[in-house]
Amino acid sequence: MQLQVFITATTAMNNLLRNPINLTLIGPPGSGKGTYGKKLAANLRAILISVGDLLRDHVRRKTVIGVEAAEAQQRGELVSDGIVTKAIYEYLRLSPRDVHNDVGVVFDGYPRTLQQAKLISPEIPKTTDTGITMGHGQGMLISEKMHVHYAVSLQVPDDICLKKALGRRTCTLCQKEINVCDINEFGYRMPPILPNNCPPRCDTHWKKRHDDTEEIILRRIHNFRSSAHPLLSFYEKKGKLINFQPFNGVDDLPVLEKIVRTTVGLEEGGKNR
Ligand SMILES: [Zn+2]
Repeated sequence: MQLQVFITATTAMNNLLRNPINLTLIGPPGSGKGTYGKKLAANLRAILISVGDLLRDHVRRKTVIGVEAAEAQQRGELVSDGIVTKAIYEYLRLSPRDVHNDVGVVFDGYPRTLQQAKLISPEIPKTTDTGITMGHGQGMLISEKMHVHYAVSLQVPDDICLKKALGRRTCTLCQKEINVCDINEFGYRMPPILPNNCPPRCDTHWKKRHDDTEEIILRRIHNFRSSAHPLLSFYEKKGKLINFQPFNGVDDLPVLEKIVRTTVGLEEGGKNR
């Protein structure tokens, strides 16, 4: 019995090494994409690419991508598909070699539009100017790295997303991420995520991100809803969509992980991608 379990686990790990999985998490702000992304990436031996963090870093460093992104944001527009795709392409291009070989990628916030999904879809010929120059050989490798094998749709009602997003804090003392919001409605049960072993009076150092205001979050949820439908149907038509309702927040991660592993064929009874 134990041997059987060991063999199954080893086979699953070997499959994962041979065929790294690239996933994208699709969900509105406050749906838990960031938290789920980090944990899924760690458990599936993948790197996490958060487009929000990536763009914020470019803006901070005032790179060409950062300047263009900041200008779009100041005009109240979404950063263009070309710029976002270029930021990810550059990130992967400059990553250490092992990232290109044997690990998968978990995308948080990419693709966000149907256009972005088409840009990185292997089946769709690239007839439009993407603003991306693919280097010979390496470019091929990187574009494969950007293929999404499965999209996970995190289904959380807007009311809950808003409350969760408003509850986000970062401790400026110990850099921990915290959520003070307590949800118990519509079948969703998400207690606050509070730090363990924090120094006394740590809570006086918990800060909100400056753009986590009700007005901005509502606008971002609205933007998400208006672009998500075509994106979700794109993956659904290809049979690459996994719908998931995280009723217990982060405690449901093992459930999602099991669904992902079964779907991509890393567990017995699963289909191959
Ligand atoms: Zn702290």
